[in-house]
Order: sequence, then structure tokens, then C-alpha cells
Amino acid sequence: MIIVANSTALPLVLLAEQFAKLPGIGMKTAQRLAYFVMGMSDEEAKEFADAIINAHSTVKECSICCNLTDSGVCPICSDDLRDASVICVVETPKDIAAFERTNEYKGVYHVLHGLISPLDGVTPEQIRVKELLDRIKKGGVNEVIMATNPTVEGEATAMYISKLLKPLGVKVTRLAFGLPIGGTLEFADEVTLFKALENRSEI
Ligand code: ZN
Repeated sequence: MIIVANSTALPLVLLAEQFAKLPGIGMKTAQRLAYFVMGMSDEEAKEFADAIINAHSTVKECSICCNLTDSGVCPICSDDLRDASVICVVETPKDIAAFERTNEYKGVYHVLHGLISPLDGVTPEQIRVKELLDRIKKGGVNEVIMATNPTVEGEATAMYISKLLKPLGVKVTRLAFGLPIGGTLEFADEVTLFKALENRSEI
């Protein structure tokens, strides 16, 4: 796919093609970004490239909650002041940031890295369900809050996991969605999200 029309510099075309792979970046924007990089100093361009390589090679999943971290266990899981008996299950690491902004939630998290979606071919084995079950089986967990988004996939995933957890004797709750149906947690304001957390119901 050649997107930089009439370019006489192949590396510039290849750079634009890389930008075009990013979400929400169309062909025109990719081209603009590639030209922007050409305007950087050698040092700035190297810093930019190094940041990508460095983040990719050092940031891994936390061995407990699967959140992204550059240490083996993330800062939330290693914080003794957090209540490890309550686990809030979210779809992406971005959702953790949304809950942390409320300053009200003191439990820990579990990141699924996706939602079950038969239509898109995503099975429970492809997201971090097994890791969650293993955590619960180790004991010490009283409540699991299913905080997936109120979408079809989010609801289906919450129900699926709830059915697996119930026999393990753990209380499973779901956020009370005063949150907009079809909306995403990432964009919910702090008050709405805190209320949803406070009014969660058992499922
Ligand atoms: Zn963690």
C-alpha cells in the first residue's frame, strides 16, 4: 500500500505506512505525521523510536492482575494498603486509570485484555479468564466486581465469568449502570463512575 503519493523517498513511504497502522489514523494523517518526523532533529527522532522499542520490550503484564507494568508485580498489587479481598474485573488497563481517578476504590484489579465475542472469534481462552480463576482458587478473595462495559460483549463476558465464579463461593457483583448503555468506562466522569461502583448489585 503506497500512501505517500509521488514520493521519491521510499523510507518516508514506509514510515507513513507504519503510522497508518495506528488506530484512528487515516492515510492523510499518516502522511502528515511522517513529514512531521522528518522535521525532527536526529536526536528527537532517535528518542521517539527508542521510546517505542523500550516500552515494547520492558512493559509486560503484572503476574497477578495482568495490568501493564515495567516490574514483575504492578504498584497496585504490591501496595499493602489495597484490599486484596476485592477484585474489580476490567476489560483494558485504561479502565483501571478511570477507577483510580475516582480516588474511592481501594480494592485491586484484574485486566481481561478483551471481551468474549463469538462474532469476532474471541473465545474465553483468548482473554485472561483462567488467570482470574487461578487467583480466586488461591483464596482470600471475598468479592469480584464485574466492571466490563455495558455493551453486548461486556454483559456476556460478565455473565460468563459470574457463572464460573459462583461455585467457588465468591460474591460476584456488577456495576450499577447509571453509566450510559453502550458507552465506555474510559469516558465516564468520576462521579458517575463512583456512583456506579457504590450501587453495584449482585449477579
Ligand atoms: Zn497487578
